[in-house]
Amino acid sequence: MIDNKFPGKDITSEDLKTKFPLCAKKNSNHKSIVNVGGVRIGDKKNVIIFAGPNMVESYSLMSSVAKKMLKNKLIFLRGGAFKPLTFPYRSKKYCETREEGLEFLKYVRKKYNCKVISEIMESKFLNKVDESIDIIQIGARNMQNYPFLVDVAKTKKPIMLKRHYGASLRDLLGAAEYILHAGNKKLILCERGITAPHTHSSTSRYLLDLTAVVALKELTHLPIISDPSHACFNSKWVHDLSLASLAAGSDGIMLEIHPDPKNAKVDNLQTINYRQFDKLIKELKKIAKVMK
Ligand code: PEP
Ligand code: MN
Repeated sequence: MIDNKFPGKDITSEDLKTKFPLCAKKNSNHKSIVNVGGVRIGDKKNVIIFAGPNMVESYSLMSSVAKKMLKNKLIFLRGGAFKPLTFPYRSKKYCETREEGLEFLKYVRKKYNCKVISEIMESKFLNKVDESIDIIQIGARNMQNYPFLVDVAKTKKPIMLKRHYGASLRDLLGAAEYILHAGNKKLILCERGITAPHTHSSTSRYLLDLTAVVALKELTHLPIISDPSHACFNSKWVHDLSLASLAAGSDGIMLEIHPDPKNAKVDNLQTINYRQFDKLIKELKKIAKVMK
């Protein structure tokens, strides 16, 4: 525990009692398990994988990825029908599929009997997710949109809250506390990279904060997922960073995969292909064995 009272961003043991009582661990073995249709996230027996393209581009793309994952029930299909794209100028290429994308997810989910995690960005779409999404992703940019966090919590659906790239753990746990306080205990946290001076280069966008993974495991009972794809922005580095994430204690990994990464409509540089995915899953299993 960090017991330095003064630097504002540290978390003291007093804070854990008064500011994050619902997030804080009650004892060193306290660990929440989020059960999503029988899959136990946070249970050390399973390595959870969320995999899919950055964007829900089409029905055929989502069914290709779902088919690829069919054999492994611990793999959830990911992909955004709604995308927080950095600039408002959306060419046809970057056009979100929005409600139509949710329909694609609904059909694929039913046809392949797979589980889906996908981002929602506005409360007005929350009544459309029942049959299309198993875990609602709250993206980095919405991490501190408190009224939205409460609205998502009220759906009673499992939630994954991504850490904003400029947020301290104090900020992240504060946001998580809003969700727990609103009565939704099915919460998973996600580390997806933070900004640091040396990441302002063309070779890497963010710095995957594995210290945060380790620190969060000390502070909170909530499961933690690592997203190396968004952190490093480089498909060649995703493999090693995934292994390191698991070794650091992440409960699962979020990966961007696509049958043809070069032609992925969004974030193609960080996206791995099926061959790289298979190789990574094999090696993650080896690390999981060592980690028990
Ligand atoms: C995503 O997962 O596709 C995404 C947009 O992530 P983030 O909110 O971390 O940028
Ligand atoms: Mn993205």
